[in-house]
Amino acid sequence: MERTLILIKPDGIQRGLVGEVIGRLERKSLKIVGLKMLKIDKETAKEHYAHLVDKPFYPDLEQFMTSHPVIALVVEGKEAVAVVRDMVGPTNATKAPPGTIRGDFSNSTSRNIIHASDSKEVAEQEINRFFKPEELFDYSFSWSNFLKAPDE
Ligand code: UDP
Ligand code: MG
Repeated sequence: MERTLILIKPDGIQRGLVGEVIGRLERKSLKIVGLKMLKIDKETAKEHYAHLVDKPFYPDLEQFMTSHPVIALVVEGKEAVAVVRDMVGPTNATKAPPGTIRGDFSNSTSRNIIHASDSKEVAEQEINRFFKPEELFDYSFSWSNFLKAPDE
């Protein structure tokens, strides 16, 4: 089982797409093992987007990601990193295929609703960046117990 980090970006929250995004993850059988709302500080943004700090669009990206809260999730499942990246679609949402989150809900390269880790190594770093160990939950439902109400 793999874990990956997802951020629902400020535009996803502003546009009321939090339930839509989380619903898609759940329906794909990805298990939510961590979930919170937080405001990213500038230092964390520089670390998270270290590969982009020299790009001309970085100031806008940092401003966008640090001026409003985001929702961070860790989901777990088979090949979760690649599965979620496929569900998210390419960075430039204008080119993102219908059926992907970016393809269905954005037409922009910068305001593209969601972040997802792009490799297993990066996922591990990003999970540690946004979640303390005690904020992640290891749990399972026994199918028979789940169906039976405790008062039956
Ligand atoms: N971004 C942007 N302009 C660009 C490329 C990227 O504003 O030309 C922003 C966009 O929000 C993107 C984020 O920077 O999601 C991170 O870029 P990356 O290349 O890591 O793409 P992602 O992994 O999000 O698909
Ligand atoms: Mg990226």
